[in-house]
Amino acid sequence: MTSMRPTIFALSSGQPPAAIAVVRICGPRTRVALEALMGRVPEPRRAALARVRDPASGEVIDEALALWFPAPRSETGEDMAELQLHGGRAIVAAVLEALGKIEGCRPAEPGEFTRRAFENGRLDLTAVEGLADLIAADTAAQRRQAFRQLKGLIGDRAEAWRQKIIEALALVEARIDFSDEADVPENLVGPALHAAQQLRDEIAAKLAGSGHSERLRDGLVVAIAGPPNAGKSTLLNRLARREAAIVSPYPGTTRDVIEVHLDLAGYPVTLLDTAGIRDSSHPVEQEGVRRARMRAEAADLVLWVSDASTIGIASEATEEIIIKTDTWLVNNKADLAGGKRGRTSESRFDRGAAKTFTISAATGAGVDRLIEALGAFARDFFSMTEAPVATRARHRAALERTLAALDRALGEGESGREEVVAEELRLAATELGRLTGRVDVEDILDVIFRDFCIGK
Ligand code: GDP
Repeated sequence: MTSMRPTIFALSSGQPPAAIAVVRICGPRTRVALEALMGRVPEPRRAALARVRDPASGEVIDEALALWFPAPRSETGEDMAELQLHGGRAIVAAVLEALGKIEGCRPAEPGEFTRRAFENGRLDLTAVEGLADLIAADTAAQRRQAFRQLKGLIGDRAEAWRQKIIEALALVEARIDFSDEADVPENLVGPALHAAQQLRDEIAAKLAGSGHSERLRDGLVVAIAGPPNAGKSTLLNRLARREAAIVSPYPGTTRDVIEVHLDLAGYPVTLLDTAGIRDSSHPVEQEGVRRARMRAEAADLVLWVSDASTIGIASEATEEIIIKTDTWLVNNKADLAGGKRGRTSESRFDRGAAKTFTISAATGAGVDRLIEALGAFARDFFSMTEAPVATRARHRAALERTLAALDRALGEGESGREEVVAEELRLAATELGRLTGRVDVEDILDVIFRDFCIGK
């Protein structure tokens, strides 16, 4: 079967020009490809310096470092090779072109190397997802979680749970198969249900302890809201340290929602600058206000910015958001407020708000304290005292279906229908098998591998 597979190749490093370009080759013709390009196959797993030639003309293309990983001890489980070339465009183009001319070799599709690793049992599906997340990780916390997942954090546990369910199932099936025979003990279903109960409680606890792990991929959402001209865009710019929002001295000009992605204390945070939320009769402005409200209401935290130098009046629209969402009050323009210790009139907000900050977005005074508090909020939000068992909605859904099947098995009780107990345990095991990709996952593979780049 493996000998029928095409041999695939791709540039696995970033776009040239670069100092070095890594070309990977995988499949049954890898050895042939190495011989064609270098005239020999290096010793397994040892770097070898070699001239790379165009097989047709014999012309030297480059001098490269070559690595040879014979199956099965390779990342994909198949024969693999890696060429570390000089990262020039013409070099990479010539090598890829030469490889493409070798019979049985073709360019790899996105994620195809990883897909082979999965198909050859080198990585389970949660590890594949971990690898995708690791490559996409922008912050330290994302990187840590993805790396742990790649190394089996979720997959190994799911597989251990699946094994326990299969053991319980075997007891129930023995009871069903040999129910007529005198020497089969009666009490096989009891121990099976006991094991199922323990497992049920363990999965439920781990799932609850997974907290916001799924959100770590997208980031915490912080909406900057408040009346027009309060200084929201100025604050966003200061937080982002770049000109992402248009700062204008005229009210109501920021009509849309602007997003800025930040790394705060190692955690991903998406900042939203919402349009000046207020009651407006202008249709375009109303639309902006509507969108801003929607985004603010869905945020994990709202920074309510007000102009401390004036007495602001809150609109009906704003009060709702404050009530619905975790809100911090940010009294801006402290530089103008002067001695009279400016404050807003919204005493109801004060009571609802968890924290209050006095800053000047223009001068930067007080902003460090706000950034520090945001970092601490993100740390709390993503706090992973437990090792997560779900970092994607797919994982959570599979574990919830596992729990539901276990619950139905348990609902039958010891004196219940043994066939039903067996069927539900089988379903529970199947759900865990789908989580790790052991059973029947064709339908989700394309979705998962779509995220990969070529050469991975
Ligand atoms: P937004 O409508 O809430 O986004 O407000 P902007 O960020 O566009 O700011 C409105 C005006 O207030 C601009 O002229 C800013 O330069 C000014 N502004 C913003 N923050 C401060 C501040 O801390 N101090 C002072 N003096 N002016 C500020």
